[in-house]
Amino acid sequence: MIDFKFTINQRYLFLHTFRHKLKVSPKWVRLHNKIWEIDKDAYDFLIGRPEVMISNYSLKQLSIKADKIVTDILHTKEFKKTYQETKLYKKWISKQWNYNKIKINSILKRILKIDIPKTKFKVFLTHPQLTNGCYLDDYRICWGHQENWKNYSLVYLVHEALHEILKDHDKLVHAVIELVADNQLRIELSKKGKYFDIAGHTELKNIEKQIYPYWKKYLKDEKMNIFDFLKEIKKIKFV
Ligand SMILES: [Zn+2]
Repeated sequence: MIDFKFTINQRYLFLHTFRHKLKVSPKWVRLHNKIWEIDKDAYDFLIGRPEVMISNYSLKQLSIKADKIVTDILHTKEFKKTYQETKLYKKWISKQWNYNKIKINSILKRILKIDIPKTKFKVFLTHPQLTNGCYLDDYRICWGHQENWKNYSLVYLVHEALHEILKDHDKLVHAVIELVADNQLRIELSKKGKYFDIAGHTELKNIEKQIYPYWKKYLKDEKMNIFDFLKEIKKIKFV
């Protein structure tokens, strides 16, 4: 059974929001100016500008300076507002997950045809107005996104978790993850929609469409589980 524990790391939330320039609020321009005025090199360090390498300070010195600045910034009203909004988002997404987790796990069990080991992922949330979604390894997921369609966040959290469960190392496995989560799970969960009617990784869609006929057969085949299926399609040449 897959489970998610949602958390907010304030320093990560700050830097993620800071690097997305002013998309959360134009008021963040004040924070950008403030840091720039305190220390231009530390600003470059935090924003990730390569010019930081030609400053008069070493990266170690800059990280100490930047660390102090971040501690101060966490007390500003601009950051506190973003934090507050992310806390509301945490409440909302936790409720969504808790309400749907039994259903999602049983749909997944039916699709994957394996006993999913008890796995708890830690989800580090960022502001929902920005776009964030990645698997960090070691059962850690970073997430924060607008709800582009019904159950968007739940479907993509499962997508990220499948990177761990299916031990994704290549494009083919990633394509299968999209068939499992972005398509079959999404359709079953929302009781509407069709395969491939949402935007995804375009470079994967082509492979997914080629796997699709085998996938349809797999879903009906009770003797084959997801790992057998992956072994089977690895023998086929897709263009
Ligand atoms: Zn992915």
